[in-house]
Amino acid sequence: MNDKLICEIECKNFIGLSTHIRFKHKDLGSKGYYDLFLKKDLEGICANDGCNNPTSYLGLKSGYSRCCSYKCSALSPSGEIVFHYVKIIKNV
Ligand SMILES: [Zn+2]
Ligand SMILES: [Zn+2]
Repeated sequence: MNDKLICEIECKNFIGLSTHIRFKHKDLGSKGYYDLFLKKDLEGICANDGCNNPTSYLGLKSGYSRCCSYKCSALSPSGEIVFHYVKIIKNV
C-alpha cells in the first residue's frame, strides 16, 4: 500500500493557510479542515481533569477552546497552542 498525499502544505502564517483552505478545501471550510488535519486527539474536549464537556471552535489560529467554561479554565493549568506549520500525510 502506498501512502497517498492528500494535503501537504507549509504556511508561515494563517493568511496562507486560510487562503489555501478557501481555494482547495471549499467544501470543508475552516472548521472542517481543522477537524480533519489539525485537531489533536484531546482537542475539543475540556482540559479540566474530570470534565469531558466539548469545547467550542474558535478558528484556525486558536483551534478549540481549552476549556468548556471559565470555571474550568480557572481550575486547569494554562497551556498554549503554538502553530508553526502544517504538514499532513494521510494513509488512504
Ligand atoms: Zn490542502
Ligand atoms: Zn469543563
